[in-house]
This record gives sequence, C-alpha cells and structure tokens, in this order.
Amino acid sequence: MVSRSIKIRGIVQGVGFRPFVYSLAVQYGLAGWVRNSSNGVEIEVSGLRESMDRFILDLQTKDPPLARIDTFQNQEIPFKRYQTFEILGSTNQSSDFLPVSPDVAICPDCRRELFDPRDRRYRYPFINCTNCGPRFTILREIPYDRPNTTMRSFPMCPNCQSEYEDPLNRRFHAQPIACPECGPQVWFEADGKKIAEKEDAIQITRCWLKEGRIIAIKGLGGFHLACDATNPTAVETLRERKKRSQKAFALMAWDIETIRRYCLVSPEEENLLTSYQSPIVLLQRQSNADLPPGIAPGQSTLGMMLPYTPLHLLLLEPEARFPSVLVMTSGNLSEEPITYRNADALDRLSKLADGFLMHNREIQTRVDDSVVRIASHHFYPVRRSRGYAPDGIRLSREVKPVLACGAELKNTFCLTRGSYAFLSHHIGDLENLETLQSFEEGIRHFETLFRIKPEWIACDLHPDYLATQYAMKRAEEENLPIIQIQHHHAHLAACLADNDWQAAEPVAGFCMDGTGLGTDGSIWGGEVLLGGYKGYQRRFHFDYLPLPGGDSAIRKPARFALACLSQSGVDWDSIYPPVQALSDEEKKGIQIQLDHSINLMNTSSLGRLFDAVSALCGICEEATYEGQAAIELEGMIDREESKAYDIPFNDDWIDSRTLIRQVAASIQQGISPSQISAFFHNGLVRLFTGIAEHIRRETGIQAIALTGGVWQNMVLLERTQKSLRQAGFEVLVHHQVPANDGGISLGQAVIASYL
Ligand code: ZN
Ligand code: ZN
Ligand code: FE
Repeated sequence: MVSRSIKIRGIVQGVGFRPFVYSLAVQYGLAGWVRNSSNGVEIEVSGLRESMDRFILDLQTKDPPLARIDTFQNQEIPFKRYQTFEILGSTNQSSDFLPVSPDVAICPDCRRELFDPRDRRYRYPFINCTNCGPRFTILREIPYDRPNTTMRSFPMCPNCQSEYEDPLNRRFHAQPIACPECGPQVWFEADGKKIAEKEDAIQITRCWLKEGRIIAIKGLGGFHLACDATNPTAVETLRERKKRSQKAFALMAWDIETIRRYCLVSPEEENLLTSYQSPIVLLQRQSNADLPPGIAPGQSTLGMMLPYTPLHLLLLEPEARFPSVLVMTSGNLSEEPITYRNADALDRLSKLADGFLMHNREIQTRVDDSVVRIASHHFYPVRRSRGYAPDGIRLSREVKPVLACGAELKNTFCLTRGSYAFLSHHIGDLENLETLQSFEEGIRHFETLFRIKPEWIACDLHPDYLATQYAMKRAEEENLPIIQIQHHHAHLAACLADNDWQAAEPVAGFCMDGTGLGTDGSIWGGEVLLGGYKGYQRRFHFDYLPLPGGDSAIRKPARFALACLSQSGVDWDSIYPPVQALSDEEKKGIQIQLDHSINLMNTSSLGRLFDAVSALCGICEEATYEGQAAIELEGMIDREESKAYDIPFNDDWIDSRTLIRQVAASIQQGISPSQISAFFHNGLVRLFTGIAEHIRRETGIQAIALTGGVWQNMVLLERTQKSLRQAGFEVLVHHQVPANDGGISLGQAVIASYL
C-alpha cells in the first residue's frame, strides 16, 4: 500500500475534473480526497501500487474534453490510511492563480435535453452542465465557485442542489447550474413595456424577426442586433441605423447544411464552426449565394457561426417561414464597445432595435464573438475573444509580471505571470470614453483574477494612444519602470511568441501593417525588420509617400491616391477615379499641401499603399471602416491571373513610386480592376521572395515572420507563404493571436520580459 500527493495545473476547474478524479479513484478502489485549490487541483490518494499506477496514467490520458493539463506533479508521501474517496471544499490562497476557462458552447447532452419534452429543463434557455455554458463572462473572482459568479443571486432549488452535490451527476459542481424553477429567465420588451415572458418572449422575438424587424438580443458576452439576413429591407435598415458603416455583418445559421447553401465549408472549417469555442468563421462565399449585398459589401467572404447558447437554439429553431440565417452583429453604435448591461442596452440601443429580448443573468465581463479563419489548412485568428480569452498563452520560460497595454485599434492588453501570457479579450478601438473604461476595468479584472501585480509596464511609442497614456499614468502612480516599444517590433515579437520561437538567431520580420509610429517620427507600416525579442534593425521599408492631412487620408483613400500620383510623376488625369471622386476644392487643397509640405505625414505603410491602389482602381475611394479599401481590392482579385508588377528594391528601400506608375499605366490601358489587383498581389509576393533571398545571401537568415494587419489578406498570405517555402525558408505565421494589432500586446509583453 502506498500514498501519493498529486498537484495538477492547467484548465482543471469548472470542466468536470473532480468528478472525473472521483470516479477513477472509485473504479480503482483507491481512497483519499481531491479538491480545487486556487492554483489547480490537489489530490491525495492511498491504495495498491498497481492500481495507483493505472490511476495516474488515466488521469493524464483520459481527462475530460474541456480540461487541459499544463503541469502534473506527483510524489510518493508517507502512507496515510483513508476509508473512502471524497471531494473536499476549495482552498483559496490569495497569492496563487490558475488559468480561467473561457465560455463554452452548449454541449450535445444539454442540447438533447433542451429539446426533450420529458426533461425538466425542456426549452429552458439557460441549461448548462460541467461541460458547457458561461465561464469567464460570469466570473467575478477565483476560485471558480458559484458565489464568485453572477449566478450568486439565484439560490438553487432542491433538485438543482442535489444534482450539484452528486459526484456522479453531469452537473456536479456546475457553477452556473439552473432550471426553470430557480434560474434566470428571459422576457421581451418594446417601447419601454414588458410584453412577454419565458417561451412567449422567444416566440414574439421570432415573429418580429420574421416580419423584418430588428431585435436586440442579450447573449453570453453582450447584446447582438439581430434581423432576418435574407430580407434586404431589414438588412438596409440595420445598416442605416448602425451609422452606415460598410463593415460586414456576422451571420448565424441553424446548422452546417444551411451554411453550405451560402458558403464553401472545408472539413477544417466545419471543425472550427462546431468546436466548443464556436467562433465566427470567415468562409468563402458561394458565387450563387442568395443574400442581400448589404450583408458584406465588396467582400468575397461571409462571417458565419452556429448557435452557441440554448437561447440561440430556441431562437433559430427551423420552421417553414422562419429565416434560415440571422444577422447577429454586435449591439453597439459603430465605434462603441458591445453593450452588455440591461439598462445600458435600453438606453443606447433603443434607436437601433425595435424590441429587446432580455434576461436577468448578469454579464460580468463583456466579450465579443471571436472571428477566425483557416489559412493554408491552419487556424488563423482575426479577433481572439469569446471562447479563447482568457486562456493563457504558454511561454517557453518563466517571466516577470508585465502589463502590456497594446495599441490603439483592435486593442487587447496582456498580463504575464509565471510562464503564461494572459491576453485579454477584444477591447476595441480605444478612441472613446466607453472603450477606455472597458480597457481599464478589464485590466483591473485580470489583475484580480490572475493575482498579478505588474512590475513592468509596456506600451506603444505613440504618445497620443489612450493605451500609452494609461501606461504612463500607471507607471508614474505606482512608480514602475515603463518601456515604450516600436509598433512593428512588437508585431515581430508577437509572431515569435505565437510560434514559441526560442532560437537566439535573428529572423526577418515582414511587418506589413496599417500604421504604427516609427522611431524617426514617420508612420511606418511596410517594414522588414531583422531581429528578435531583444532588438531589431530596420533593414528594408517601403519608400516614404506623403499622407495629406494625416488621419483624414486614411478615411479617404482617394486623397492619398492623388498624393501617390503626384509623387510618382503622374499627372492627375481625369481617367483616374480618385481625380473624379474629389471636388476641385479638395484637389486644390491637396495640391497646396503637397507643394508647400503642409500637414503631410511620411508613411511607409503597405496598408496605405493598398488603399491607394484600391482607390486608383475606383474600388474604394472612401473607407467607412479600417482596412475597407484593401479588403475590397482583395475581394475582387482575378485568381487565375499570374502576371505581376515589378516592384524593385534598393539598398534599404522598396520603390513604391515605380509600382504606382505601373498601376497608372494599367488604368490608361483600360485593364480591369480585378487584373490590376492580381498584378499588385503577385508583384508583392515576388518582391517579398526577392527580399528574403537577398537577406539570406547577406546574413544567412532562414526564418521569415509574416506579421501585421496586411497579413489578414488571405491571397497575399497564402501565396507569399507558398513562394517562401518553395524557396526553402522557414515561414512563421500567426496561429494563436491575430496578425493585426490585436496581437500587439503579447509582443510588447515578451519584449519587456527580456529586459
Ligand atoms: Zn452541457
Ligand atoms: Zn433549479
Ligand atoms: Fe499594427
């Protein structure tokens, strides 16, 4: 007879781990106990050596589907005699921490019960179990126990209580456990009046949706605005009310078969759609997909997801006249963070929605839907949020506690502790008070949850970013050292950390991006950096072009297009769409700016160059969201066309003017925008391969990191990756964090951790 003490770390709480341990112990005739601690699960167990060995093997290999074991410590201790095996109460040491589980889509068992008339939770919109349901969005404090969640205001009924206490029940210690007797409820309201409750509320919502109305629906991490995606009038109305941004709407369909009617779905994409993270997956649109153009203007993809809560299932239940797909876009005005509190929703969304489907389970942390895609058969995140955050990203070594504040657009922050980097959910564009509040609250919440007291603060170089200002203020108040990190160096480090890159040799980072402040005061964004976590050398960059009027040129690509023409020695012939699109007055203004160098910002950004080419082709002269011009240029590419522009490079810069002249010549020759788009994309692939080969001859560098927002362009990513691999390079692409600014804070954190 022997005794052992086992300590397990990782995602082991709220995922049915203790019942799993309990039933294994009983199966092997072992005695002792298991309990949650604030840094994982602890087990003490006694019994025959042979049974013990099998128990330990099973623990590590047969763990429940949502569990993830990061470390497994196991040592023999002096023999202790136990009579039975027990599940003990949690211990909580305030300095310890453990990863927090993200929210989990409804599991097949709960789904079956939801539609089983004999089940006591039949059609109950908040059914869940240890394998599914809300986690991070309802969590106030660790350890993950009911009183530490927003479910604390719902005392359990005797039935739920006994399920909760039964180690062999699927709902044993399922913290959000609830039923129609004791749990949260839904209701429907419009014009300030409560119109219906429970099942009636769901049916009224369905009726209103069917009639083409727009409903604000409270979900897991916030409110969605929903409407019939097949109804052009409803879609247009929603566009108008959402301040006319052209950003694509996310869609939700009942099942994969329905999604296939509109999109191509590969096996990998199907796995992603049906995964327990249940993200929005960007899918290639079927050419005959019959949906109003207003869903995703100018795009060749559609963002699709499946119902991930019981409420969604009840809402989308198939029926003859009910829409097969719903728009489910985040409930906000275009620039604000997603609404998540009832009172706030009634206040802010009343101009957008005709009615509200509400519920009374509070959301502690607002979390947007994640957006992901498959690139060259691999997972490629675009927005890492619900289902993934706040899962810790494993680092290859222990690091000191750092708070990295991220960038301005698509902000996330990142806190490190031990060998984890806790990258936050998507915060949004830090350009208004609401988002700033959400950012500050998020940081405090993570610091409490993971018990982190930062010893270093990292932020961007840009002094005007609200995240930078927050970093400065905190560093001063708490007397902490602060490091400002160049934007594209942070992108490079993010890509290296994402790939767990440990080699000391430098890599070549192709940091192709929208904008980031450079060390020379210019706006960088087309940078080839040689280096790693500890530093970098700016080896190549796209030649500077003047951005007239700074930010307004970003919203009006036509303005930058004209500046590009001038700088490349091309006259403003009216054959170029931007010349026609802008008023004489505007053109005169730009001319004066260029002639006298007034209010011009130099930029090497490839993102901006995409904007300019898109505007020159007449595709997008004015952008209503970041990246629109580039997305639409990619969206219309002729995929069969293999010709390429010749984009030369010199000692240390890439000749963007030669490129502009070729685009202008193509337009003069009447070449179609889809061909110009192809020449441009192909030219870039050739350019990048040429530069990589040049660097390899010069330095021996074999590894290329593709990072920055431009790499959300799938055509460019897949073709560049392929070309570089064929030329023998090791290519690092993102697969845990986005290539865009949503990944920046991870890069900042690892750079700071090397100081
Ligand atoms: Zn379940
Ligand atoms: Zn109950
Ligand atoms: Fe960036």
